Amino acid sequence: MIQNHIVARGICDANVLEAMLRIPRELFVALECREQAYEDKALPIGPGQTISQPYIVAYMTQMLLLEPTHRVLEVGTGTGYQTAILAQLSAQVHTVELDQNLTQEAAKRLAALGLDQNVAFRSGDGVEAWRDAGPFDRILVTAGSPTLPEALMTQLAIGGLMIVPVGRGKTQMMLRLRIRDGVRVEQPLIACRFVPLV
Ligand code: SAH
Repeated sequence: MIQNHIVARGICDANVLEAMLRIPRELFVALECREQAYEDKALPIGPGQTISQPYIVAYMTQMLLLEPTHRVLEVGTGTGYQTAILAQLSAQVHTVELDQNLTQEAAKRLAALGLDQNVAFRSGDGVEAWRDAGPFDRILVTAGSPTLPEALMTQLAIGGLMIVPVGRGKTQMMLRLRIRDGVRVEQPLIACRFVPLV
């Protein structure tokens, strides 16, 4: 998967590739999908939800420009695949998921892999749930947001970056946002297809 779908499509950050190599994606998909775990596909993880396509996970992680000191907020834990990768590349990850079962399962899964030391899980609405823990150096939204999530922008630290897929349709534009000299700078990255933020 890493060679054929990630490196071949231009992901070159060695830290990102190493972090992904350490995570067995098959443990983050439903049993009946395990044979497809290393294909470059989003797969179902429950009612209307999916685990993101590995290339997109790699791309977003590379574009986040993570440093080992960073505090990260992830919105949309899902089964915790992206969480596990973020946790290896940053100081602390706060991850929030609307679905309580997914949150509990993700916390158990990361604990079993010994990857939960610097991860805090919470179930609730991503925009509100971790207000008490911000500001964050990096914010990653892994569900499609109909509009720019303004409330999340206020939780971004000085010099921080947020990546969020924005759009109302089936596909979104992935945006990278930062505040430079008090002004918001929006960088469109790629078109993508996420399940919508609820
Ligand atoms: N990061 C995951 C992506 C999971 S899909 C991965 O690595 O595969 C997106 C997830 O966002 C779903 O599990 C969905 O339940 C969750 N979600 C949707 N709206 C949300 C909201 N408002 N707050 C928190 N989580 C939300």
